[in-house]
Amino acid sequence: MKFKWLGTAGFEIKFDNMTFLIDPFISRTKGAVPSIPKSKYEFGPIDHVYLTHGHFDHAYDLKEILEKTGASLYCSKTLLNNFIEHGIPESQINPLEGNEQFDFTDYGVEILKSVHTKFGMKVILSKLLNPVTYVGIRQILRMARGFPKGEVLAYYFTAKKENFSFIVFGSGGWIEDIITEYDGKVDIFLAPYAGRYDMHEIIPRMASLFNPKVLIPHHWDNSFPPLSWELSIDKLRHVMSQIVPKVKLYVPEILKEVEIKSFDDFYNSIE
Ligand SMILES: [Zn+2]
Repeated sequence: MKFKWLGTAGFEIKFDNMTFLIDPFISRTKGAVPSIPKSKYEFGPIDHVYLTHGHFDHAYDLKEILEKTGASLYCSKTLLNNFIEHGIPESQINPLEGNEQFDFTDYGVEILKSVHTKFGMKVILSKLLNPVTYVGIRQILRMARGFPKGEVLAYYFTAKKENFSFIVFGSGGWIEDIITEYDGKVDIFLAPYAGRYDMHEIIPRMASLFNPKVLIPHHWDNSFPPLSWELSIDKLRHVMSQIVPKVKLYVPEILKEVEIKSFDDFYNSIE
C-alpha cells in the first residue's frame, strides 16, 4: 500500500489493484502554504472517494475529480441532495448512514458516525478581530458557499495483503462509545490536527481512547489562510509524549508517496 498526503485532510491510498482518495481538497486558496499548483496533483485511475464531511476544505474539488476519474463517492446521506445540486450524478454517489461495512479486493472499510471539532471562541475572536482576515476572506466565503457540513463520518480501513488497519478522521470530534470500540485495533490513526488553538491537547486525548500504534497528523498545513494557520508539530509531539507515550508520531510530507509493504517495517522506521 502506498499513501500520499495531498495537503489539508486529503490522502491518496493506492493498493495493487485499487486506489481511493479521502477528502481531496486540492484547489487550496491564494496564499496557501505550501502553495502547490493544481497540475501537481496528477491522479491516475481512482476507484473510490471517501468524504468525512461536506465542508469546502474537504469537498470543494469533488465534482471535478469524480468527473475526470469516474470514481464512486462515499459520503453521508445528508449530503446527497446537495451534491446532486452541484451536478454530481446520483449514480456516482453512495449515501451512507454511518454503520456500513464494505469488502473490496484489496481492502475493507467500516463506516463510523462521528462529529465535528467545535471551533474555540479564541479562534473565532482572533480571526474576527484581525484585519488581515478580511483581506482574502472573500475567496474563502465564495468557496465555502454551498458546502454544508452534513453528518460527520470516520472510516476504519483494513489493508488486506499488508495486514494492517488505519482509521481516518477528517475533523477532531468523536463519539466516545464508538471510538472506544476500536481500542487496540488500530495500527495507524490519520489525525485531523486543525481548527483549534488547543488541538495539540485534544488529539493525544482522542488517541488515548483507542491507542493506535502510529499517529499521522494531517490538516495542520496552512491551506486556506487567513482562516487557517500552521499548527505546531512540536507541541503535538510534546503532549503525545505525556499522554500517549507509546504512540509513534509520523509527520507526513505533502505529496510525498510513502510505501508500507509491511506495517512492522514502517513502524520500526519511525524514530
Ligand atoms: Zn470541517
